[in-house]
Amino acid sequence: MKIGVLAVQGDFEAHGKTLERLGVHPWFVRRASDMESLQGIILPGGESTTQWKFLQAEGLDRALCQGAAGGMAIFGTCAGAILLAKEVRNPAQESLGLLDVVLSRNGYGRQVDSDVRFGESKLSAEALEMVFIRAPIFEEMGPEVKVLAENEGKPVMVQQGKVLASTFHPELTGDSTVHEYFLKLAGN
Ligand code: GLN
Repeated sequence: MKIGVLAVQGDFEAHGKTLERLGVHPWFVRRASDMESLQGIILPGGESTTQWKFLQAEGLDRALCQGAAGGMAIFGTCAGAILLAKEVRNPAQESLGLLDVVLSRNGYGRQVDSDVRFGESKLSAEALEMVFIRAPIFEEMGPEVKVLAENEGKPVMVQQGKVLASTFHPELTGDSTVHEYFLKLAGN
């Protein structure tokens, strides 16, 4: 299975380590040609404004949209979820528009609080450990978007077709449930 991790900025190495733990080699993606024949790609947390500039400069924005249209699975965590959104607010910025959600970047504690919580999800019977670091908030969702996990009544992980997004960081815990779910999605 060929799975990429966008490696321009942010915590891509932690995603790489989680994939390795699951026996999958991470292909670090820095330019559009690195995306050849990927079945899935992870967009890590970090700073979405910086990441967006890289995506545009390298033509990775177009390559990601083409990949998604061709059936590639995409998992965005935190800043990666912001990149996937149809609309980004507070402050507004451009994004890929591959996930029918409106995300507010002015999320938990005006983007300063970090927090570890446990919450229910549709992925397993066990509670998921959720690490929030300046997390954005899903404010609106289109009819095709499914909520996979909530925290305090708000969605924190959603899926639309082969696009998965979480506002928390599963790569920063020892629990690989979310990555396993993504790998299944990418393999289908
Ligand atoms: N709020 C950050 C942003 O706008 C994302 C934070 C994160 O990825 N941990 O990019």
